[in-house]
Amino acid sequence: MVATAYLQGCPWRCTYCHNPDLLDPRSPGTHDWVEVTGFLARRRGLLDGVVFSGGEPTRQAGLPAAIAQVRRLGFRVGLHTAGAYPRRLAEVLPSLDWVGLDIKAPRDRYHRITGVAASGEAAFGSLAAVLASGVDHEVRVTVDPTTHSAAEIDGLVAELDRLGAGRIVLQEARGQGAGPGYVAALAGRRLRDLLAHPPAGVELRETVPPGDPVRRSPVAAAAAVREYPGGV
Ligand code: SF4
Repeated sequence: MVATAYLQGCPWRCTYCHNPDLLDPRSPGTHDWVEVTGFLARRRGLLDGVVFSGGEPTRQAGLPAAIAQVRRLGFRVGLHTAGAYPRRLAEVLPSLDWVGLDIKAPRDRYHRITGVAASGEAAFGSLAAVLASGVDHEVRVTVDPTTHSAAEIDGLVAELDRLGAGRIVLQEARGQGAGPGYVAALAGRRLRDLLAHPPAGVELRETVPPGDPVRRSPVAAAAAVREYPGGV
């Protein structure tokens, strides 16, 4: 059981981003850090860890100090990152128990997702740092039917496997929270509309759409949470 802190700020503008309110690093937070650490101090023994997410949490220069403080409080630490800042990621990796790294596309095609040139260099630099660190990790690819082809996903999975990624997850792109242009372009397409035959050896993380019978049964919903941890 963890508490998750969503840190504002991200240098990229992904087609499918569903946290647009978190992209501006100067946007005021909803909780200041003193409040967060006070909350955590009262939950020692009740929570196992703290997960930093975003936005892009490595955008914040205060992240290493915040992680160190959380560890001193006795919590384990996880990090969700898109790898936009490989040097800061490398700095905090020795203090992490787990990292979830987004790899969005083949290196030379990253800008189609992020809108930023050379973003692929940063992300693959972060991947190299994660794999060299030995930290427990997952590498996940959001399958975006508006930009990816099935062959591109197959090639990317093969490349991640070749580089030594321990756990590769293909997750479904969602329209919720994304801009209207993306929702229109997605046109309701699902992961399996693009990947009729997903590559072997990867985990699929698919969403359960509103109205699906699984949502009407608490038992089935609990099972779905286990099966689709990011998607229900
Ligand atoms: S890296 Fe993540 S937070 Fe940043 S724009 Fe892309 S999806 Fe949004």
